[in-house]
Amino acid sequence: MSENPFFESWATPFGVPPFDRIRPEHFAPAFDRGMNEQIAEIAAITASAAPPRFANTIEALERSGRLLDRVSRVFFNLDSSNTNDALEAIARDYAPKLSQHQMRIALDPALFARIAALHGRRGEMGLDPDQLRLIERYYLRFVRSGAMLTSEQKARMAEISARLATLHTLFGQNVLHDERGWHLLLDREDLDGLPDFARGAAAQAAREREAGGRYAVTLARSAVEPFLTFAARRDLRQAVWQAWTARGAHEGEHDNSPLIREIFALRAEQAQLLGYENFADFRLDDTMAKTPAAVERLLLQVWGPAKEKACSEKAALEATARAAGLNEPIEPWDWRFYAEKVRQAQYDVDEAEVKPYFVLDNMVRAAFDTAGRLFGLTFHERQDVPVYHPDVRVWEVRDKAGDHVGLFLHDNFTRPSKQSGAWSSRYRDQENLDGPVSPIVVNNNNFAKGEPTLLSFDDAKTLFHEFGHGLHTLLSRVRYRSQSGTAVRRDFVEFPSQIFEHWASAPENLRIYARHFQTGEPMPEALLQRLLAARNLNQGFATVEYTAAALIDLDLHRKSAVDALDPVQFEREFVERMGVPNEIGLRHRLPHFQHLFAGGGYAAGYYSYLWAEVLDADGFAAFTEAGDVFAPELATRLKDIYSAGDTRDPMELYCAFRGREPVITALLEQRGLAPPL
Ligand SMILES: [Zn+2]
Repeated sequence: MSENPFFESWATPFGVPPFDRIRPEHFAPAFDRGMNEQIAEIAAITASAAPPRFANTIEALERSGRLLDRVSRVFFNLDSSNTNDALEAIARDYAPKLSQHQMRIALDPALFARIAALHGRRGEMGLDPDQLRLIERYYLRFVRSGAMLTSEQKARMAEISARLATLHTLFGQNVLHDERGWHLLLDREDLDGLPDFARGAAAQAAREREAGGRYAVTLARSAVEPFLTFAARRDLRQAVWQAWTARGAHEGEHDNSPLIREIFALRAEQAQLLGYENFADFRLDDTMAKTPAAVERLLLQVWGPAKEKACSEKAALEATARAAGLNEPIEPWDWRFYAEKVRQAQYDVDEAEVKPYFVLDNMVRAAFDTAGRLFGLTFHERQDVPVYHPDVRVWEVRDKAGDHVGLFLHDNFTRPSKQSGAWSSRYRDQENLDGPVSPIVVNNNNFAKGEPTLLSFDDAKTLFHEFGHGLHTLLSRVRYRSQSGTAVRRDFVEFPSQIFEHWASAPENLRIYARHFQTGEPMPEALLQRLLAARNLNQGFATVEYTAAALIDLDLHRKSAVDALDPVQFEREFVERMGVPNEIGLRHRLPHFQHLFAGGGYAAGYYSYLWAEVLDADGFAAFTEAGDVFAPELATRLKDIYSAGDTRDPMELYCAFRGREPVITALLEQRGLAPPL
């Protein structure tokens, strides 16, 4: 019988997981042994006769669960990026077991007694600032998991957590099931209006589905958005839109509505057990925002102006549609199509004209070089590192002195085995408790593969966004693993990623990296100026779409009544009450709102993007005010934020960079929502 690679140390370059040797049957035994090892490690901490000290309790906790961490990282990354039936079955099986395991530790009375004792005299132990913060975080995490509840309540907390883990997993799998199960097979004559890149991607998708010679529109966002933007056939746009918004909402085995009801009720119950009125109160208590009221204030500050702007955008679309002979109201499947026509007419910018200048490889180079100019990093491709899919490329990251910083894996293309969307994740976190450990980062995108792969301007910004998260992981310089890189509060974690997006649209970069894929010529300056001028176009639509999603998330999780929630009715009432324009609709309908229900991380937290945007708009304004988007002193101070991880309070970090607290002006301006002076 072959050895289980999780039980060996890895002799691969940089200790990357030996993907070529890992098989699905290795996970269950590795999870089991990993959990048992950690339980034994915890038992050793609590059984110690020595009084609790930072080293024998907190640092011992930091050292625990190494095997479990290693197998979990590999498993959950593969399950997101390249899943199959075997991995999905393991996910269903182990999600509740892992949750029970974590709760068993979080609710261990002897362990909490030691942490609480240390927390009580944290000021008298001569701790360093990062250690002090670590102890506070540990204490809070245990309390918020239920460490101070009665044993009966604790048992219920553990039960709820395990059930939620199962429900989250099923929710995500149902969405993926609906995405995989649908595509629209078309012939050449159905493709009127579609530019070459979209035709190429549809031809490729058809080949992958054994329908070579025809064209397939799938439910990947990178396929749906261009189709809705360009396809002249209104009936086909409608079909795609309806399939897209029906994900997770089909009656039967894969219907997500019953899951939403149960998830909501369990979250509300958990919050009440912990003494909060509702889940939003509980969740926001441990964020920068602190309260639902603070979040609502921000969201409503943009909601009104955004609706007004969308309303004037709609008038322009209608005029264009009338002129083109459409005598019916604009529907959600029309908005992008006519917005594109308006964009072409008002700014003379045609997405099909822009896209040939956004070659994937050049944009990757732009992101790397920006990280080089700002933070001194260099990227060196490695062919000798095992990968889990042939599309994955690997780069070694080095600093100015040429020293190894970490490993960056880039997984850019859409495929049926990959979750939709874009995200950054890690196979290993940076830490320096028992010697330096370097990070291994992965960035996932869902770009349609082409020859070469061409991006939209938005795609390029997404690429930079995820790379910003990647840099947050790579530049981390902390001692403790639980404070590493992106382990910050949820409404701060989008700051390093969103501020990095600004360099994707910096003219200084576009002039160098936006080059035509055939001629190699840089984008003509006039086109570049028109592209940038068109940025505020359709921002009413985008802001309404996003803000509605954040508001419905907040509303839902502010409900304290545990009476049965009917997601469909709730959605309908929300849309009416808030006056969500019908022709825009909801960006994420509840049955496929994965941020909220495929995991707990962004529940009552979807607002985080806008919260962080206040910071990123205000933060980037520092560079434009300095007249240099690569201003070295600012870059050095910004790097401190990326390096600090969770060792310091986020507002304190921001103020150290900016010299003051953030203001909302730059955000309103950047979205074209600022009232005229
Ligand atoms: Zn992000």
